[in-house]
This record gives sequence, C-alpha cells and structure tokens, in this order.
Amino acid sequence: METLLLGSSEAELQIAANILHQGEIIGIPTETVYGLAADASNEEAVAKVFAAKGRPADNPLIVHLSDFSLAVNYTSYIPKLAYKLAERFCPGPLTMVLPKNEKIPMITSGGLDTVGIRVPSHPVMHRFLEISGLPVAAPSANRSGYPSPTSADHVMRDMDGKIYAVVDGGESEFGVESTVISFDSDNSIRILRPGCITREMLLEICPDVVIDPAILNDIAEGQRPASPGMKYKHYSPKADIIIIEGTLEQFKEYVSDNYGDGVYTLIYDTDAEGFPFRFLTYGKDSSEQAHYIFSKLRELDDIGAEKVYVRAPSKEGVGLAVYNRLIRAAGFEVIAL
Ligand code: AMP
Ligand code: MG
Repeated sequence: METLLLGSSEAELQIAANILHQGEIIGIPTETVYGLAADASNEEAVAKVFAAKGRPADNPLIVHLSDFSLAVNYTSYIPKLAYKLAERFCPGPLTMVLPKNEKIPMITSGGLDTVGIRVPSHPVMHRFLEISGLPVAAPSANRSGYPSPTSADHVMRDMDGKIYAVVDGGESEFGVESTVISFDSDNSIRILRPGCITREMLLEICPDVVIDPAILNDIAEGQRPASPGMKYKHYSPKADIIIIEGTLEQFKEYVSDNYGDGVYTLIYDTDAEGFPFRFLTYGKDSSEQAHYIFSKLRELDDIGAEKVYVRAPSKEGVGLAVYNRLIRAAGFEVIAL
C-alpha cells in the first residue's frame, strides 16, 4: 500500500476520519509526538497498530478524546480529583489511568483493566477527534524501540507502506510523550511516566504526588512495573548511547580519553563554542531539550554515529522527562564522573 500524505484542511481531516471508521490506521500530529491512530473500540484496527509498530501485546495504548467529559463513556470510575486535574491540564499533555469499562477492548489496554485517557491540545488532532467522534488509540508512531516521531517525515520514514495515511501538522511542540499518572487513592497520584506536565505543576492541584521509581531505574527481570512501557528498551537509535554526568571540563576530558572513529557527542547549546570534538547540540534548557531530543537521536543515526556520549540533562522539572527517555535510549548506561 502507498501511504497517503494528507494536509490538515477540514476536507483532509474528514478523509482521515473516514479511514479510521473503516478500521484502518493513520499517523496524526499531537502536541507531544506523532501518534499512530486507530479506533480504540475496534479490536482489528488496534491489532494493526500493534503489528505496524512491532509493539509487545502487553504495552497498553492511550485513548484520546476530544473532551474529558467523554471519559465517562469508557471508564467505570472517575475520582473527583481527576476532574480537578482535567480542569487545569486538559486539553494538554496529561494522561490519566482510570478503571476501564467494556467499551475499551482488552487488546487496547494491553490486558489491563485500566485505560489511559488523554485530551490532546493540538488543533489538528483535536479537530480530528471531533470529526471522527471516536475514542482514538494512538501510541507514538515509531517502530517499537526506536525514537518517537516529532514530524510527519519521521512517521513516513518508519511507517511508509504500512499505514493508510499520515496527516502533516508540522513539528510537535513539546517533543516528548505525555505525563502519565495513576491514582494511588482518591486524593493521591503517582507519575508513571514524566512529561511536560511536571510534578511541580501537578502539586498545584494535588498535594500528594509520588514519582514512580521505575522512571529512573531499570526494571528487574520478570517484574511488572505500574507503567508497562517502562520495562522495554525504548527510544533507542542504532548508535550506542552513553550518558555522562559531570561538569563540561570533566566531559571533555572523558571524551578525549575515549575518542575515535564513529564517536559523537550530544551537548548543550551553551557548550558548543570551541568544543573540540564531533558534536550535535540538543538545546539550551530542559524545554528545548524535550523538543529536540528525539529528532537529534534520529539525526545521529543519519550521520552514521556509532557511539554517542551525551551530556546528562537536568532531572528537574521537564528535565526529568528528557532524562527518562535518554536513560532508556542508553539502555541505562550512565557514567558519573
Ligand atoms: P505510547 O503510546 O508510546 O506513548 O506509550 C504509552 C505508555 O503509557 C505505555 O507504554 C504505558 O507505559 C503507559 N500506559 C498507557 N496505558 C496505561 C495503563 N492503563 N496503565 C499504566 N500505564 C499505561
Ligand atoms: Mg512510544
């Protein structure tokens, strides 16, 4: 099949919605990364998403809705706190894990009795959800294990010939996937995956916010984390990624001792002046680093990098999301100087 590249006009979004109603799948922009969209209530359509991505069957898909008020149709219980969070953060990059009802098939939830619900703010995705009227399952539109796509071109490269169409809505603004939270009780939440809605932002609404230990630590063999996606090697380019913690001087010294053919570095914009080794930069602060991290990982493959030393991002605020993606891209290889 030849993958159709669609723009984001009303007529093209109508075509995209029709494709979903027919049980087929498409790439679609969101404010976090590009998603691979299917009708979340259609088991066969959802199976096509798992197949196109090569995604393990126990890794659940997030269900996207045009408005949080629709969540009652797909869940069996919504705590009051969820409505408060929705008032502040929906639409936006927040996913809330809630008990699902029978309208969401087990294949969509990766066999769990819960479902992640998100209301995206991207105008193209939002309009698409309104036109289709469907609950839309949409994991990141990359081949499983590789960096997430933040442009229609990235999706085309991973999915050309495997899916019906890609809607082009420009570059994704945030660049890392949504913050995923679950409810430990009616009044306390747990961050299962960090994103651009930070712990500090969540604390403004809920005084009890736990960061799940799986965010920065490897999962032991056979253990099932609260967020199944956390157990897989993820976000990873072909190059071998190694995170280096330390000052710029220590970083330079380490690279100097370990330099050679195929070795590249990924550094802050502010490190670049006079930097003596092959490098790409990935922004000057955490928000920029979130925006650029996946496209830079893809670019490193394009230029033939074999080994990449990365100056560790901050773990504060949005930095935690960047660190969480990089440490998985690195297969947990961190060198502290
Ligand atoms: P992606 O669709 O690629 O952004 O990945 C979605 C991630 O959200 C999964 O890998 C899980 O880690 C998390 N997630 C989605 N649904 C649930 C759920 N019902 N319970 C826990 N985590 C979830
Ligand atoms: Mg993903």
